[in-house]
Amino acid sequence: MKPLQDSRESIFWAGRSGTQRKKRRRSGLSVLNRILTWSAFPQLQLNGKSMLDVFFTVDVEIWCDGWHSIDQKFPACFQKYIYGPTAKGSFGLPYQLDVLNQHGLSGVFFIEPLFSTRFGEQPLAEIVSLVREAGQEIQLHLHTEWVDESRQPLLPNMHEKRQYLRYFSRDEQATLISEGIGLLERAGAGNIIAFRAGSFGFNRDTLGALDACGIAIDSSYNASMFGPDSGVMSGVTVVEPVECDSVLEYPMTVFNDGTGKLRHTQLTSCSFREMEGLLWQALESGRSSFVILSHGFELLNEAKERPDDVVVRRFQQLCSFLDKNRDVFCTRGFQDLKPHIPKHQPMPLVSPIWKTGARMVEQAYRRKYR
Ligand SMILES: [Zn+2]
Repeated sequence: MKPLQDSRESIFWAGRSGTQRKKRRRSGLSVLNRILTWSAFPQLQLNGKSMLDVFFTVDVEIWCDGWHSIDQKFPACFQKYIYGPTAKGSFGLPYQLDVLNQHGLSGVFFIEPLFSTRFGEQPLAEIVSLVREAGQEIQLHLHTEWVDESRQPLLPNMHEKRQYLRYFSRDEQATLISEGIGLLERAGAGNIIAFRAGSFGFNRDTLGALDACGIAIDSSYNASMFGPDSGVMSGVTVVEPVECDSVLEYPMTVFNDGTGKLRHTQLTSCSFREMEGLLWQALESGRSSFVILSHGFELLNEAKERPDDVVVRRFQQLCSFLDKNRDVFCTRGFQDLKPHIPKHQPMPLVSPIWKTGARMVEQAYRRKYR
């Protein structure tokens, strides 16, 4: 086992600076070679039990509820989307960080920085410091809707709004990703090694652009959205980590809920009972990762004036569950990741139709009190 130990130590992706990233690239150790080293070994074993890597991912972003008068609206929107104050208390990002930390759980916070090219670096630095001080991991999220709102042009001849990263060429994507890394690093975020495209609107060019920017991990593939026509493993529904164009893709966990459609695992779109059942199923079927989606404002109702009690309860139940079952579910980030790449893509997880029905009742209740 000694050679394995050595190779594990040498492959950690988490270069601490741009220079180290470049050195890593020059080393000639391809991502694929590193993965093949790993795939020859079974999942992490602890006390004889397999463990499942659980990525509780939170996309942190700000919107000004339209594109008119955004400079006037921004201060109030920043409060609403980041802190989430309500008459019952605050339910934004600091609340999520607190609950995770109370349970000793790790999450990944994909922070969207392009808004700061319009409103300045301070609000971004404030978000970064909330997550850093909570000891949670920061990675990059990009919403290209901000590109044409920047005070300084980020790309030449950008005069219209383009909603998804996939609408940009590979070189343009690399320019935007590089800008995002710089903004986050200047805001104090440290080393960025993972990425998620806004609204999962990526394509295969994104992976090439990430590689060019020294980012080794992507988590933009969502089989219930743009994944199938992204050009990544065409014809295959990707539900487990895979290497493509020298980047490791960690897809969103999706499931078949018995209605013939795939859903991704997100607090607002599946019940705790569904999530719990899917986590056990993933563990028992030997899956290597489980990627859950949330947002910094996800625990609030649509108007963001009060907590969404159903979703707050789901979040608390999920955290208690992951805390109680930490011997088999390992919540973690992408830093120091030891990837487990399966040789074949399994079928998506399945949740029984009765749980779908129970969730529909919960969702109807949420809509009634929206
Ligand atoms: Zn987003």
